[in-house]
Amino acid sequence: MNERGRLIVISAPSGAGKGTVIERLLKLRPEIVMSVSATTRAPREGEKDGEAYHFIDTEKFLRMIRGGDFLEYAEYVGDYYGTPKKPVLDAIDAGKDVLLEIEVQGARQVIDIMPGAMTIFIVPPSMEELERRLRGRGTDSEDKLAARLLQAKTELGHKSEYTNIVVNDDIERAVTEIIEILDNT
Ligand code: 5GP
Repeated sequence: MNERGRLIVISAPSGAGKGTVIERLLKLRPEIVMSVSATTRAPREGEKDGEAYHFIDTEKFLRMIRGGDFLEYAEYVGDYYGTPKKPVLDAIDAGKDVLLEIEVQGARQVIDIMPGAMTIFIVPPSMEELERRLRGRGTDSEDKLAARLLQAKTELGHKSEYTNIVVNDDIERAVTEIIEILDNT
């Protein structure tokens, strides 16, 4: 019988550089299974259905909530995001480590139901740097950007709920620190 895999939760305010850090982490640790979330938000350019997210409408999302299909879910800046439960539990049962890249409300639900989960919060070096990165991405309207900045400030206030905090001042350094956390926990 396989040893069960671990659940790894990574959160970060948007603009903390989490996407790049996770991409690099998965290159170095390809055996980690990345959970594909469902969301009601529209795809950004280049995002493929079933890869970045499962893009679904609100009606289907609500049906999945009622069906108990989510490990956790949350509303974030006007859209729903959730982790489909079955693929995560199947992978863990098969002995694979599974990574969830989710926001703080969802992370709290995961910590409640799976207290053994490893939790990592990635923070930007400063608020100024965070705003610069968000603007640089250029994908959000001014309204959405303001909402994400406000949300980021709120989220930063939750970092103490996580067992590990990693500052993304330099991508390689941050990834190395995350790998050390994974290898030593
Ligand atoms: P974005 O729209 O930038 O892709 O994601 C917005 C936020 O939703 C990010 O903080 C991301 O981590 C979070 N998120 C993505 N998928 C999930 C999910 O399945 N559950 C929860 N709770 N948050 C998610």
